[in-house]
Amino acid sequence: MTLEWLTRAMQELGQPAFRGRQVFSWLHGRGAVSFDEMTDLSKALREQLEERYYINTLRVARRQVSRLDGTVKYLWELMDGNCIESVLMQYHHGNTVCISSQVGCRMGCAFCASTVGGKVRDLRPSELIDQVLFTQRDSGKPISNIVLMGIGEPMDNLDNVLRFLALVNHRDGLDIGMRHISLSTCGLIPGIRRLAELKLQLTLSVSLHAPDNETRSRIMPVNRAYDVEQLFAACHEYFRQTGRRISFEYAMIDGVNDHDWQADLIAEKLRGMPGHVNMIPLNDVRESPLKPSRRIRQFQQRLESHGVTATVRRSLGGDIDASCGQLRRKAMEDGGEKQL
Ligand code: SAH
Repeated sequence: MTLEWLTRAMQELGQPAFRGRQVFSWLHGRGAVSFDEMTDLSKALREQLEERYYINTLRVARRQVSRLDGTVKYLWELMDGNCIESVLMQYHHGNTVCISSQVGCRMGCAFCASTVGGKVRDLRPSELIDQVLFTQRDSGKPISNIVLMGIGEPMDNLDNVLRFLALVNHRDGLDIGMRHISLSTCGLIPGIRRLAELKLQLTLSVSLHAPDNETRSRIMPVNRAYDVEQLFAACHEYFRQTGRRISFEYAMIDGVNDHDWQADLIAEKLRGMPGHVNMIPLNDVRESPLKPSRRIRQFQQRLESHGVTATVRRSLGGDIDASCGQLRRKAMEDGGEKQL
């Protein structure tokens, strides 16, 4: 619930408007899980709230801690029994949580574990926020950065994602700055355009994975609806409107998207825009025949020879199924998920 909504709800109960702000900061700032915790409200009011409303919570269904780097992977059970994942990563610049935006995904990327089994439903704003709040609560680590790079396609659930962004960004909530938030999309162009109009200062990541239609359509079905030309046009427009550099994700797949000519094509398409290519060593997904590339350094050098900045993503949590959808898949196979 937004501050405006809570304020109105309090007034309807005959309370002064400022109670809305009090409840808002309990819910969104401190992550209260029961009305009883809200000790600056009268007992009578807490009981009234208890009767009328509920507070969304998550239950830890599994927690895996990497012995390599301390990365924590959470499998959360939602109130309806569905499961989603979040990952806590500890960097020197702060603690980052990677959150899911949907239960499952319908985008169908060939290399991604999240999409096996399709989409079950969208996550609600409360379920998005709770991934941050409960990760913080469970780990005892203050979260300073959020990446929307978990299970699901954020732009396929954009209304709820935008509400979530306003809530975590709110002064009386977690107060996480937009510049500390990244949103990743497989390339849903209406969403990119809508985000551009809002001129938020977050970092947009676009899952490119191939600069030519033939390859991209083969590994990312979304490309059949919004092709490479349309995608780059939307990206250029996004940069013009927001002034923000876009980060292009590129999972390096052996013999599929790791040829020099593809690096050349990326450079060509990026001309006129300060793009950044984030190369991801492909995580082996059991369901997929695609294998990790052995040409990561060469591809990087080729991009750099064109003046394109390219980094190789450091891999965290390699021992704990930390990449998209892997843990949920495993739990589904083990019968850990009631809905499926
Ligand atoms: N649906 C959004 C959010 C997912 S973000 C999107 O597509 O951008 C997760 C990132 O990890 C995406 O760039 C996705 O393409 C990438 N990814 C998925 N499976 C992967 C794998 N097996 N290896 C490396 N990267 C992968």
